[in-house]
Amino acid sequence: MFSKILIANRGEIALRVIRTCKELGIKTVIAYSSADRDSLPVRYADERICIGPGESVESYLNIPHILSAVEATDADAIHPGYGFLAESIPFVEVCEASHISFIGPTASNIQLMGDKSLARQTVKRNGVPVIPGSDGVVKSLEEAKEIAKAIKYPIIVKASGGGGGRGMRVVREEEELKSAVLFCQEEAKVAFDNPNLYLEKYLERPRHIEVQILGDSFGNYLCLWERDCSLQRRHQKLIEESPSPLINQRFRRRLARLALKVAKSVNYTSAGTVEFLVDSNLFPYFLEMNTRIQVEHPVTELVTNTDIIREQIRIAEGEKLSLKQKDVSIFGVAMECRINAEDPENDFLPSPGKITRYLPPGGPGIRLDTHIYEGYTVPAYYDSLLAKLIAFGKNRQEAISRMQRALEETEIEGVKTTIPFYRKVFANPQYLKGKYYVGFIETILENENDK
Ligand code: ADP
Repeated sequence: MFSKILIANRGEIALRVIRTCKELGIKTVIAYSSADRDSLPVRYADERICIGPGESVESYLNIPHILSAVEATDADAIHPGYGFLAESIPFVEVCEASHISFIGPTASNIQLMGDKSLARQTVKRNGVPVIPGSDGVVKSLEEAKEIAKAIKYPIIVKASGGGGGRGMRVVREEEELKSAVLFCQEEAKVAFDNPNLYLEKYLERPRHIEVQILGDSFGNYLCLWERDCSLQRRHQKLIEESPSPLINQRFRRRLARLALKVAKSVNYTSAGTVEFLVDSNLFPYFLEMNTRIQVEHPVTELVTNTDIIREQIRIAEGEKLSLKQKDVSIFGVAMECRINAEDPENDFLPSPGKITRYLPPGGPGIRLDTHIYEGYTVPAYYDSLLAKLIAFGKNRQEAISRMQRALEETEIEGVKTTIPFYRKVFANPQYLKGKYYVGFIETILENENDK
């Protein structure tokens, strides 16, 4: 058993990890930047240690500072949350070499799945369908042109090391290909230190459906079923729900089988997510695997009655999975809105600042994962996620009614938030029927602007 876990992250996910640790009787240390001094995770952790100033490279991404914090506080494990160092191979390797337990997958898991083009090749070899595209990295513009011609436009140019919706460009005709390749290469070099690109056929109006899996170090695997994350804006997720309103039990089992095949192909340990794009003929294609806890994990926790952070910790402690597949069924429906400090009236421009008024929602079926409080100042250094508003109901209708009520109840002032935007989505008849897809938001917004 771990006696003390250091959390190398901030915001709502840091608090989320602290909460499970408290329930498990494990002490916590929060490694924080000075910009987060007044944040809730810093208040709620058993111990706190400052690892540098606000700039991430000097704190949350600073490996030597984090390792010194582990040593100074005598912690025996690190939970990386998501983002920052959660998928950093050098970080995981140095933890492995220093005998500090990293609560997450192995460096080799991250290596094989973190490079998206390599992951495509690996899963394809194992019989999992991938979106038609390049066999690996494209080496020249000429090669890109040939592949694009073969798979037919529109195509999407993507960075092998990409993430967070960056390093991607849709190309509808050959004339646009050169500038897209140059753009993605530049962005990928700066953001991911890896200029490699690959190509995929661009699917029109697909659904993004992903499967949560768990693997322990004894070769046991578990599938916690799917989340539908098709409600996106500019390829960034905004609303997630489980189960997907699109699919039936048969398709669900098929996705689960494919996801487990992907996990087994790399001997995956810890929590991970296998993402698929599902086309209009209901054909699933592997998109990528995320080797970390995801922002949207709570919707799965609610419908499967599990604690994914707890399972991650148990697996890292060398325990076997506590559940058997036959014990994991789905009950009810859960939906999550990512409430960001952004101005939906102004192209979702980030809106950091002081929260002058805060009235959280509550009542039956509402869970709010957040680190904010009245008087808290949202720093400008980090992503703009303020809170995850999650509604649970025995069916989709009940979850929707609760989400609508909670969105009405919530009051956040001092910063702009995306709440007014979600109120609009939760009044859209097509969305409410579950008939949405990747690109739906752009279509609604465009229609509104045309009026
Ligand atoms: P990231 O790792 O940056 O999140 P992904 O490869 O997971 O990138 O893709 C993110 C989103 O981009 C998907 O959910 C989807 O909306 C869109 N996307 C990616 N590839 C394609 C594709 N081939 N066709 C259509 N949309 C795509």
